[in-house]
Amino acid sequence: MKVEIIKCLQDNYSYLIIDEQTNEACVIDPSEANPIINYCEKNDVRPKYILNTHHHFDHVGGNQEIKDKYSSVVLGFKGDKDRIPGIDLLLEDQQIWKTGNFETKITHIPGHTRGHISYYFFNEKIIFSGDTLFSLGCGKIFEGTYDEMYESLSKFKNLPLDTKIYCGHEYTLQNSKFCIKHDPSNQKLINKMLEIKKKINNGTPTLPSTLKDELECNIFLRANNIRSFSKLRDLKDNF
Ligand code: ZN
Ligand code: FE
Repeated sequence: MKVEIIKCLQDNYSYLIIDEQTNEACVIDPSEANPIINYCEKNDVRPKYILNTHHHFDHVGGNQEIKDKYSSVVLGFKGDKDRIPGIDLLLEDQQIWKTGNFETKITHIPGHTRGHISYYFFNEKIIFSGDTLFSLGCGKIFEGTYDEMYESLSKFKNLPLDTKIYCGHEYTLQNSKFCIKHDPSNQKLINKMLEIKKKINNGTPTLPSTLKDELECNIFLRANNIRSFSKLRDLKDNF
């Protein structure tokens, strides 16, 4: 398995997780169809499945066009069946979806939206976190409560420390500025910021991150009670 990062729209990332034995792939959150189709045509990859983390347009915008072209099967949370375009397979919390060499565990992580889920490919130790856990940040709370978001973020904390985290947006640099403001003496964060700046200057993605890095540096994961989490979330909204 390899993961290909596909830049979409302004600052979105879609991903292809590719089975190199068959050249079949799962597309995670196709913001738009063209960059995905271009990659697949060039590399002879077949996007058999489309995996959506949530219904926002910048995560499902390419669903229908990719589905029409490749007869892809679209997966999403059952609660979002009326708002994920082209949805075929309705997923549940804690379900394991397996087909061919793809095997992933679904976790319901509401807060950003009611129906947000993550996909954890446990054999590869890779998680697609959508707009819930960002590198050095977390998603805005649009449909859920602070409690839900706090609880959803805490679900990441028990994964293996070397789990690779692929999220929906390149927000890392901006997020890092908020983290350092509220955690100025965190040496691990200072070191990570140097790496991040290097990558941004080279025009390369700052992702994937690792759970270890996020536990050490992400102020929202470091908040250990709902009160401080909620306060940070409010401050970030106006940062
Ligand atoms: Zn979103
Ligand atoms: Fe988004």
